[in-house]
Amino acid sequence: MSRDWILTILIMLGLVAGIVVGEMLYDAGYNANDPSSVHAHAGALGIFEFVGVSVFMGLLKMLIIPLVASSVIVGVTSVGDFSRLGRIGAATLFYYFATMMIAVIIGLVIVTTIRPGDELAKTANVAQLMQEQQTDSLREITDRGEVMAEAGIMAAVRNLVGQMIPTNIVEAMAKGQPLGVICFSIFFAVIVTTLGDKGKIIVEFFSAVFEVLMRMVVAVMWLAPVGVFALLAWTIGRIGLAVFVGPAGKFIIGSLLGIGIHALIVLPLILWIFGRTNPFRFMFQIRQALLTALATDSSSATLPVTIECTTEYGGVGKETAGFVLPLGSTINMDGTALYEAVAAVFLAQAFGVELSMTQLIIVAVTATLAAVGAAGIPSAGLVTLVIVIDSVNGSLGTTAIPVAGIGLILGFDRIIDMFRTVANVWGDAVGAKIIDRLAKD
Ligand code: ASP
Repeated sequence: MSRDWILTILIMLGLVAGIVVGEMLYDAGYNANDPSSVHAHAGALGIFEFVGVSVFMGLLKMLIIPLVASSVIVGVTSVGDFSRLGRIGAATLFYYFATMMIAVIIGLVIVTTIRPGDELAKTANVAQLMQEQQTDSLREITDRGEVMAEAGIMAAVRNLVGQMIPTNIVEAMAKGQPLGVICFSIFFAVIVTTLGDKGKIIVEFFSAVFEVLMRMVVAVMWLAPVGVFALLAWTIGRIGLAVFVGPAGKFIIGSLLGIGIHALIVLPLILWIFGRTNPFRFMFQIRQALLTALATDSSSATLPVTIECTTEYGGVGKETAGFVLPLGSTINMDGTALYEAVAAVFLAQAFGVELSMTQLIIVAVTATLAAVGAAGIPSAGLVTLVIVIDSVNGSLGTTAIPVAGIGLILGFDRIIDMFRTVANVWGDAVGAKIIDRLAKD
C-alpha cells in the first residue's frame, strides 16, 4: 500500500474517532452534575486544543509565509511573459467572483424556500436564546465586525489595498498577512524575469526553497491523523451533535445542503466543462487537503497541503498552483459567501423581517464582498457577517435585525465552518485546475 493510502486511511480513522470521542466527551461534560467531571471535561478539551490547534495547525501555519513567497515567485517566473500573466490573472479573478456569486444564489434560493428562521421563531424564544449567548466572544466578534461595517465601503477598499501594499514587507511577513506577501512576490518575480541570466540564480534558489517546504508539508502531514482526531474531538466535545436536531437544526442542514449542492454538483460541472477533467477523480486526488480543511476550519492553514496535493497528485502545474492557490485561499471563498447569505436571511426571518427582492440583491452583493474580505481562518466569516447585516439594516432604514442576533448561530458556527472551509478549498483547487488548463492551451 502506498504512503498516501496509509495516511488517508489513518486520517479517516482520526476523523471518525474524533467525532465519537468528542460526542462522548460532550455528553459526559454536560450531563454530569458532578463538578469534578466538568473539570475533567475542560481538561480533556484543553489537551485536544493543544494537540490540534497549537501543534498540528501551528506547524502548518508556520509554513505558510515562506511557502506563499516561494510558490508565487516560482509560479510567476515560470509563466514568464507579462501579457500571459495578465490574461491568467484576469481569468482567475473572473472565476473567483463568478463561482462565489453562483454559491450565493444557491444559498438564497434554499434559505427563502425552506425558511429556517420561521422555524426558529416558532419553536424557540428568540429573545431568550439571544440573551443566553451574550458572551464576551460574541461581543468581540460584533465589535470587530461593526468597526469594518461602520468604516464603510471606502475604508474596506483602503484596508484591502493597504494589505496588498504593505509599507514594510518584513512586518507583513511577521504578522502573517499573506496578501502583502503575494503582491510583493508577484512584483519581485516579474522584475526577476527581466534580469535574464542573472535572474536564474534567484529562480533556482526559490525553486529549491519551494521543494524543501513541500517536503516539510509531507512530514507534517504524518501528524495529521492525530491532529485531525484532536481537532474534531475538541470541536464536537464543545458543541455536541444534538445541534442538528435543535431549534436551529433546519438552518444548519439548509446551509450544509447549499454547500453540498455547490461543492458536489456546481463546481464539478464547471470543472468538467471548463477544465475537461473528471471532477470526482480530482476530488479524490486532493482528498488530504479537503480532510485537512474539514478539521482545521482554515483555508490558510490548509494551503500548504492544497499546494502539495494539487501539484503532486492532481496534475496542476507548479506555475499555476503557485499563485492561483495562495490568492484563492485569501480571496475565493464560495462556502463562506453562501453561508453569509443564508445566515443574514435566516436572522431576518427569525426577527420577523420580510426582505424584498432589492434587499436580497444587497445580501447577494455584500455576502460576496464579505467573503472576499474574510481571512482564511476559523470563524472569519462570522465577523464579516456583521457587514451584510448592517447593509440590509441600512436599506431597511432600521436596526430590525440586531447584530447581536449573531449570538443565535455563534454556538455551533464551527460545525458549519468545517464544511464551508472544505467548499472554499475545493473551489480554490477547481480554479487552479481550470486555469492550469487554460494557461497551457
Ligand atoms: N474558516 C473559513 C476559511 O478559512 C472562513 C470562514 O468562513 O469563516 O476558509
